[in-house]
Amino acid sequence: MQKILIHIFMSTSTQTAHESMYEAVLARLNVAAQLINLPETVTKVLRYPQKEVKVSLPVMMDDGKVQVFEGYRVVHSTHLGPSKGGIRYAMDVNDDEVRALAAWMTFKCAVADLPYGGAKGGIKCDPRKLSEGELERLSRAYAKAMKDVFGVNKDIPAPDMGTSAREMAWILDEYNKITGEDSPGVITGKPVGLGGSLGREAATGRGVMVNTLQALSKLNINPKQATAAVQGFGNVGSHAARLLAEQGIKIIAISDASGGYYDEKGIDIKDALNYIAKNNRILEGYPNATKITNEELLTLKCDVLVPAALQNVISPSIAENVKCKIIIEGANGPTYPEADPILNEKGIIVVPDILANSGGVTVSYFEWVQNKMGYYWTEEEVNQKHDEKMKVAFEKVWTNAKKYNTYMRIAAYITALEKIQLGIKMKGFF
Ligand code: GLU
Repeated sequence: MQKILIHIFMSTSTQTAHESMYEAVLARLNVAAQLINLPETVTKVLRYPQKEVKVSLPVMMDDGKVQVFEGYRVVHSTHLGPSKGGIRYAMDVNDDEVRALAAWMTFKCAVADLPYGGAKGGIKCDPRKLSEGELERLSRAYAKAMKDVFGVNKDIPAPDMGTSAREMAWILDEYNKITGEDSPGVITGKPVGLGGSLGREAATGRGVMVNTLQALSKLNINPKQATAAVQGFGNVGSHAARLLAEQGIKIIAISDASGGYYDEKGIDIKDALNYIAKNNRILEGYPNATKITNEELLTLKCDVLVPAALQNVISPSIAENVKCKIIIEGANGPTYPEADPILNEKGIIVVPDILANSGGVTVSYFEWVQNKMGYYWTEEEVNQKHDEKMKVAFEKVWTNAKKYNTYMRIAAYITALEKIQLGIKMKGFF
């Protein structure tokens, strides 16, 4: 059975992730759809995003010249509720990537059992090269251009790569000015003082931690005797490393764009966090560990590997050399489709992105609920509700992996499809 599955998988993923990320999503969707005999009509509907918007954003730069940026928003599905998904600011933003990320949000929200469809947005820019004023004008221009796409019960953005609570506040403010109403729930990941939820900032990292504990328990590994390597030290990676360390897991390596940092005795994560706080948020020059490359980090012998940086980092050749027992995908799409069967053959458990990093959108959902109620929970309440939801989602995916004799990524798609197909069927076709 396992061999047959791999064969199906290989034959449907002839296009590689770097040719088309969206095709890679569809390849995985196909495999899951075949395994559960999903009606062709449902697969067909899910192959096409519901809405794609591309806008030009002219922005007055600090030097008095106007620069025009490309902005995107793709709504992949609204079958289970309003569409939900972040906005990223990065140079590689393009229609194919945003489309793929939007579809992942559809599956991610369904796996986490949230009443949402999926969307994603982005602006092609390098946020590190823009001043705060330029970033604010760009964010406001984006909000203005997307005013008819966004809506508290329609499409709800949030932070993603290159954005944070600061950008969400500008977008919210601009949107509210246009509509003339105060509608905090139209965007999540806001600053706490503006209707943001306690626990939202660390939520994706927290989800990574909960998924790690669940996976370790399935392998009967005591967290206090486990080791982990975390790739990426941004919002997801840094919170994940800190929370994993708090569970007694020894973090033997961390990394960011400046390279990897290794210590077999364990890196003091608090010390590394203090270092980046004083060093422009990067690990460059971190003195208390040995410098390694990002590739060396990915192939370290450890129990848990957390890719929490970019997409497409675990290529087939890296997969051949990976020496961990569990991969927890903190980033969206860190594993090439062609690497999946290799990791599976090696017996490595891969907790896929649409499950492993769903803690962020789960607490976004709690933020939206609190905004609608106008009543706010304590951080403990948020964390406890998050942990519960995450454990249920993990268990469902684990059970489906056993039931369909497949690996967790496909099981996560199956878990999502079982829910989405009901939504599509109940709403009907016309
Ligand atoms: N950008 C995050 C993700 O990819 C969060 C999305 C959200 O909170 O809506 O899951």
